[in-house]
This record gives sequence, structure tokens and C-alpha cells, in this order.
Amino acid sequence: MDLSYILNHLGEDRERYFGAVAPPIVQSSIFAFPSVAKMREGFRDELGEHVYTRGNNPTVEILRKKVAALEGAEDCLMFGSGAAAMSAAAVACVDGGDHVVCVARPYSWTRAVLRDLLGRFGVTTSFVDGTDVARFEAALGERTRLIVLESPNSMTFEQQDLAAVATIAHARGIRTLCDNSYATPLNQSPLALGIDLVAHSATKYLNGHSDVVAGALCGRSELIAEVFRGPYMTLGAILAPHDAWLMIRGLRTLPIRMQRIAATTTDVLAYLQAHPRVRRVYSPRAGANPQLALTERQLRGASGLLTIELDAPDVAAVERFCDGLTRFLMTVSWGGYESLAFPVCAVYPRDSPLHPAGALPLSLVRLSIGLEDAEVLIADLEQGFARL
Ligand SMILES: *Cc1c(COP(=O)(O)O)cnc(C)c1O
Repeated sequence: MDLSYILNHLGEDRERYFGAVAPPIVQSSIFAFPSVAKMREGFRDELGEHVYTRGNNPTVEILRKKVAALEGAEDCLMFGSGAAAMSAAAVACVDGGDHVVCVARPYSWTRAVLRDLLGRFGVTTSFVDGTDVARFEAALGERTRLIVLESPNSMTFEQQDLAAVATIAHARGIRTLCDNSYATPLNQSPLALGIDLVAHSATKYLNGHSDVVAGALCGRSELIAEVFRGPYMTLGAILAPHDAWLMIRGLRTLPIRMQRIAATTTDVLAYLQAHPRVRRVYSPRAGANPQLALTERQLRGASGLLTIELDAPDVAAVERFCDGLTRFLMTVSWGGYESLAFPVCAVYPRDSPLHPAGALPLSLVRLSIGLEDAEVLIADLEQGFARL
């Protein structure tokens, strides 16, 4: 199945809706049956049939099929946020007393669900440097049921060798879950490398327009059905039909957005790596990245997220740099059409629960490259550097 078929046609049954090119938003909470027998049938497969929108909805189903196909998965569930997708996957995989191994610096709310939420129910989690598979393996115990990966992570871009981790996990019957938000399905295919479940913050590149918060979870049918019967239906963190419709629209341009973002990011990365006031650039493709060989093997393209460590005397200088930017909008999140700057340690001090784990330099600024021209962004960064 080629990419344009997935994005333009898959899941869209136009004969059923008047030949409309854009699919309808099926804004209905419930679906009626012509007979008791049909109703009984509907309840036998709430994930595949249309019964109640907390389970399945025709508009959301179009999106499920497209995202599953992009990830090379048998099935996909869409959630009301990426955090909901990660939480549902984790909750589905563990019982009280079980153990989880997670990368050292996951997305902060992934850390929160494992450590704080599941921790309250007797689940323990070891956070381990995932750049070294041996260290990962050493952390596994009798009760380890799940390995949580984020490759690369969204702040300092450490990667894990997904195939190697999957091999170790499968040998012991441990499930693996990978957050693939940074790479998108276009640039990395964890399922093909043996990972069991792939999650996305679809808020980021998949939707790409900073107007929807959404999540996706992809995997084998039987695993997805397990998540569906469990946390998906019980926690009810679903994607609304209207948001699914916006996401279908956003997804159609994913390949051209990612192509453009990759080209611009290459230029901005080169500019930043040569800048005297930049101490270090964090990116899977930065020249100084010790994991470049893994990047080449595992990641197909580049995304537009990178972090710089400024040569700044103090946090006030970092603030001046960011306050000097006018085209980069200053905010959280990433992956939209617009470029963003996020001075992470200036915003989240070390004692904040949202501070990324570990001893990070205070002068980090994460940049998300959007669809602007590279020259415009570089000129804007110049203005910031002038204020440093
Ligand atoms: C944003 C983000 C999430 C959470 O997604 P939401 O859609 O905000 O709930 C999870 N993982 C990563 C890497 C993220 O950047």
C-alpha cells in the first residue's frame, strides 16, 4: 500500500456518504440497530462495529485505519491525548506488584504515570539509561512485564537499539512499548523491529497544526483488543469525531510537511553547530551525537526538533535570548506548522516535577522547526543571539 493511498483513500468509503470527498463527521454518540439480532451482533465486536462512540465511531475509524497502516500495524486505537495512549498501554500491561523498566529521561507525564500513578498500585519502575542495552538488560527482574522506550526522546534525543531491546524482551515474555512521536511512522518503524506497541502524541507531527490534542496506540490485533477491553473502554479517554476529522485532514500532508521540515532543519542545524554562542546541539543528526551510527541504522529521515545549549552566563541571558525571538513562538509542545522555542530549564526549575530528569544544563532551549523558510528562522535566531 503506497503512502498516498493510505493518506488519500484508505478507510474512506465514499459510496456510503454521497461520494463526498471529505469524510463526514459522524457526530453521534450512539448507533441504532434494525433488530435485536443485529444488536447482539454489534455487542459481540464493539471495536469493529458501531455501537457507542466511547468504543468506535465511523469518523474515528477512518483515522484508526490510516494510522495503523502508516505504522504497519494490524490495528490502532485513537485517544484524547498522547498521555492517554501511553497510560492505557502501561495499565493494560501490568498488575500490582509488577515491575517496569523505562528509559532514563522519558516524556515527563510518562514518568508520572509509571512512577506516581502505577506506583500507588504497587507497580515499581526502574529508569535506566537506554543508550546501553546491557544496562537495560541488567535492570530486568522476575516481575518485569513491560519495557517503556522513547527513541529518541523529545529533549536530549537519546536513542535505544529497538531491535536489540525487542530481542531481549521477547526471550523473557516481556512486552515492549515505544513512544514514536519524534520520528513519526515515516522515519521509524518500531513494530518492524519487533516492538509490541507503538504510541504517538498525535498532537505533534501526525496532526501537525497545533489545533488538536490526540494520541494513538498501534500493535497486533490481539494486543489492541486487550487494551480496548481494558483501559480504553474503562478510562474512556477517547478522541471525539470532530477532532478525528481534523486529524484526518492534518495527516494528509504529513509527508510534505516532514520533507520540508527536514530540509529546513538541516540548514538550521548547520547554522547552530557553527555558532560560537552554542555550546552543544542535541539532535539525532548533530555531528557530536555519539549515537550517529544508530541514527543511520534506525531513523530514516530527520525531524524538526532539536535542543541547543547556549553559551549563556546565567538563566537571565537565556531569557533575553528567547525574549528576542519574534518568529519562533515561545511555548510548550512541538510538531506544528509554526516554529517554537522552549527554554526548558528556565521554565521548569530543578525542583519542578516537570523538569526533565537528570542533571541538564540550565541554558537549554528546545526548538521545533516549522514550515517557515530557513533564512527567516536563522535571522530570528540571530536576533536572539544579539541579546545574549
Ligand atoms: C507531547 C508528548 C507526549 C504526550 O502527548 P499529549 O498529546 O500532549 O498528551 C508524549 N510523548 C512525547 C514524546 C511528547 O512529546
